[in-house]
Amino acid sequence: MKKSVAIISFLSLLVNLYAQSQDSVIIRRIFDEALTSRAAYENLRYLCKNTKGRICGSPQAAEAVEFTSQVMLDMELDSVYLQELMVKRWVRGMNEEAYVISSLFGFHELTISGLGTSVGTGEKGIIGKVLEVQTFDDLEKLGTENIKGKLVFFNRPMDPTLINTFAAYGGAADQRTRGASEAARYGAIGMVIRSLTTALDDFPHTGVMYYEEGIPKIPAVSVSTIDAEQLSRLLSGDPDLHLHIISNCKNLDEVTSHNVVGELKGTVYPDQIITIGGHLDAWDTGEGAHDDGTGCIHAIEAVRLLKDLGIQPKRTIRAVMFMDEEIAQRGAKKYAELARENNEKHYAAIESDRGGLTPVGFGFTAAEERMEGFLQLKEYFKPYGITEFVRGGGGADIGPLREFGATLISFIPEMQRYFDYHHSPNDTFEQVNIRELQLGCAAIAALVYLIDKYDL
Ligand SMILES: [Zn+2]
Repeated sequence: MKKSVAIISFLSLLVNLYAQSQDSVIIRRIFDEALTSRAAYENLRYLCKNTKGRICGSPQAAEAVEFTSQVMLDMELDSVYLQELMVKRWVRGMNEEAYVISSLFGFHELTISGLGTSVGTGEKGIIGKVLEVQTFDDLEKLGTENIKGKLVFFNRPMDPTLINTFAAYGGAADQRTRGASEAARYGAIGMVIRSLTTALDDFPHTGVMYYEEGIPKIPAVSVSTIDAEQLSRLLSGDPDLHLHIISNCKNLDEVTSHNVVGELKGTVYPDQIITIGGHLDAWDTGEGAHDDGTGCIHAIEAVRLLKDLGIQPKRTIRAVMFMDEEIAQRGAKKYAELARENNEKHYAAIESDRGGLTPVGFGFTAAEERMEGFLQLKEYFKPYGITEFVRGGGGADIGPLREFGATLISFIPEMQRYFDYHHSPNDTFEQVNIRELQLGCAAIAALVYLIDKYDL
C-alpha cells in the first residue's frame, strides 16, 4: 500500500515537472513572438500621433475608440464591441499664461497648465499677491485674514526619498485634487501647484482637480518644477510680487463616449471573464503614451499573442480600453454596471496604468487561500527579469470588479522614470522603448495563460 502511494506521488511529481517545462516552453514562445513583432509599437505610434489630445469627450477620444476597435477587428477576435457611456467634457482653450510682476526683479513668464475640470480666469486673467504654502494645515494657520484676495501657491514636492514613486505621488496629489477648494475656503482667488513630478524640468504636469460643493470655484493651474523653484526664490526676495494668470479652460455639456472591448472566447468556461485593461483617454497636453497608451496596447497585444500562438484559453479573455479614467472613471463604472446587468462572472482583472517601462512584476489582491498560487508564479518569469510578485493589486478601472470576487492584478513596471512623463507634454511616443513595451505585453499574456490554465 505504502509503496503504491509512493509511486503515485512520484508519478504526479513527474507530471508536474513535465507540465512546468511545457509551460516554460509556451511562455518562451510568447516572449519570442512579442520581441520579434513590431505590431504593438506601431499601434502605439498610431494612437499617440493620430489621436493626441484624446481627453474624454474630445473628437480625438472618439478617433481612439474607432482606431482600437478597428485594430481588434483586424485581429479577427471573436467579438469586438463598444459600451456607450456619458462623459464630462472639459476643454483647455488656447493661451495659458502666467507672469510674475515684481518691482524688484521685473517680469518673468512661468510655464503653466490648467488643471482638469478647472474653471478659466476670464479674458483679463486674475492678478494678485502670492502666498506660498506646503500643506492644508498651513492654510488653517494663516487663516482668512492672510489668504483673502491672494493666489495660493502649493509648493510641496513629491517626497524624493521614497523609492516607490507612486507613494510619493500619492503623498503630494492632494494639493492638485483639493488645493483649489481648500484655498478658496479662506478667500483665495486662484491656486497654483508645483507640478507632481520627481523631475526638475520645464514641463507643467496637469491632472484632475475637484471643487468642493458650496465653496467658490477658483482657477487652478500647475507650474513646472523649474518655475516653482524660481517663483519660490523670487517670493523670498520680494514677498509683494504679483502673479498674473490667464487661462481659458471651461466645462461643457456632457457627451456620449465609449469603452472598447475585444474578446477571445473561452473554450471551457466562456462565461468566466479575465479582463486586461488600460485607459484610452489621456491628458491633452501630451500624446498619452505612457499614460495610458501603453496600457491599451499591452491589453490588445496580450490578446493577439495568445490568439496568434494558437493558445486557446479556457476562459474568455477581454482586452478593454476604458474611457474616462482621468476625470471621473465613468468607463470603469459603466463596465461594472453592465457586468452586473448581464450577470457576468469576473474571474480576474489586470490593469496596466503605470506606464510602458520595463516590467518588474505584478501585484495581486485575492482571497488569501489563492495568494500563495499567485506568488509562486514568479518562477516562470525569472528568466525575463520579472521578479516582484507581491500582495496588493488593482487600479481605478478594474477596482469595481472586486464586488464580483475577481482577483485584481496590477502590472508593475519600473517606476523611477514614470513621473518624468505623467500628465505632461513629455508623455510622447518617443519616450516609449520598443523592447520595454514588448516585454510588458509578453509578461501580461504569459500571466493570463498561467492563471487560466491553473485556475488560480
Ligand atoms: Zn493613467
